[in-house]
Amino acid sequence: MPRYKPVNLAQDAFVPVCFEKQILPGTFEYALHHLMEHKVDLSAFDAYYDNDNRGARAYDPKVLLKIVLFAYSRGIIGSRRIERACRENIQFMALSGQAMPDHATIAAFISRSPEAIQTVFQEVLLVCEQSGLVGREMFAIDGVKLPSNASKEWSGTHDELAAKARKLDRAIRRMLKAHRAEDEKGEDPDLGHYTRQQIEKLERQSRKIKAFLKHNAPKLGPKGKERKSNVTDQESAKLATGKGVIQGYTAVAVTDAKHQIIVEAQAHGVPQEQELLQPILEDLQAQYQALGLSPNIHGQTRLTADAGFHSTANLQWLEDEYCDAYIADNRFRKRDPRFAEAEKYKPPKPLPKRFRPRDFRYDPDQLTCTCPAGKALYRNGANVRINGRTGIKFTAPKSACEPCHLRAKCLQDEHQKSPRQVVFFHPKEEQQPQSLIDKMKQKIDSLRGRMIYSRRLGTVEPPFGNLRYHKGLNRFTLRGRKKVDGQWKLYALVHNIEKLAHYGAIG
Ligand code: SF4
Repeated sequence: MPRYKPVNLAQDAFVPVCFEKQILPGTFEYALHHLMEHKVDLSAFDAYYDNDNRGARAYDPKVLLKIVLFAYSRGIIGSRRIERACRENIQFMALSGQAMPDHATIAAFISRSPEAIQTVFQEVLLVCEQSGLVGREMFAIDGVKLPSNASKEWSGTHDELAAKARKLDRAIRRMLKAHRAEDEKGEDPDLGHYTRQQIEKLERQSRKIKAFLKHNAPKLGPKGKERKSNVTDQESAKLATGKGVIQGYTAVAVTDAKHQIIVEAQAHGVPQEQELLQPILEDLQAQYQALGLSPNIHGQTRLTADAGFHSTANLQWLEDEYCDAYIADNRFRKRDPRFAEAEKYKPPKPLPKRFRPRDFRYDPDQLTCTCPAGKALYRNGANVRINGRTGIKFTAPKSACEPCHLRAKCLQDEHQKSPRQVVFFHPKEEQQPQSLIDKMKQKIDSLRGRMIYSRRLGTVEPPFGNLRYHKGLNRFTLRGRKKVDGQWKLYALVHNIEKLAHYGAIG
């Protein structure tokens, strides 16, 4: 029979712990501790306290900041879990000097100080710059869509929300009627209690929607079209992602190519990244000017971005700023000869069953078009632009398509209500080769352009990979743009401090 060492759980032991010695040079916690104690000016947090002459002493912001950033670096995001870590984890005790703030203090600190967090972000960026970790040769911008503390079930245009409130009211009336009928019969007390609770819940929800509609104007996009509002967090947006639709924020980061330091991080409740390029780069410029690092960072540094940021307005703005930008468009990969063979490895696509433009009779002199069924189409676009090409658009009369026996061969979906449309592109020489979009295509398709753009992935993806997969950032826990923006900056701070620690710039 094997013999094991005895275990004595009834013994007493004193374990000497020196908190300072728990924080080892070269680690993230050392860099964090050193920055907060010696490098970063945290006076911006003072404005949140009013206890000079009255009230209890508050927790020092540097203690709370150390706790929160260390927790985020370990994938701990909830304030209750952070509170528990402060009681149980020796590293948390060492960083905070055994301060044990409760979860409410931690949550309030994170959500009420976005402006001060912005100042800390700038100060740490300055340290990165002074340590030579920022090369300023190329910046890359990208974004990720993350859910926040609001449900998409409470999203809709004002009309949709009003319809939802009416639907709730109808359900309440129906339940009340059934409840009264049950009452008259002599109700089952359990059932009655449950029904009353359900009715109260629906009434609360209906009141909430009505109050929202009363106090909030419809949310409009840049083209004046109404966007979906959200009753819980009006500043969040309904976002389409590769894994379905979420309610949340687009978190954007601008990253330097040398060591992937995040030089600007912002979160916005907008569905399109396109509209964020200008405001974020303007703020980046203002930040570099305020820190006295560069009067014109746009003109000094090259910028790369993927197709999500491609638009004529953005290209024009970048040209006006004299920024050497490389922005891909949706067909960038398709034009790349290195990907010419890629199609070979994809599963074969079913052949398009619908008629193609060449199956229509187009007369470029008379500008007329006749479909395979012999019906004349009408012209409704003389210069439509699709993927940078200009063409003339024809549409079939609805009355012709509806009874047509060739619908199955002509329309995308045999049951669709809209009629067939077809575009004939102008020959290449009639195109305007020097539009901004064409100029960018020529630039990015060149050997030099491809070489520069190929560095984008290795520049901007590592911070997202680090924060999302190593630090477990898969959702924001706050509501409201400013608060979410502050939380995103805290994560960007974790990334930058980690870089300072790893490159030996501190300690
Ligand atoms: S579906 Fe319309 S456009 Fe197509 S062949 Fe029939 S009539 Fe012509």
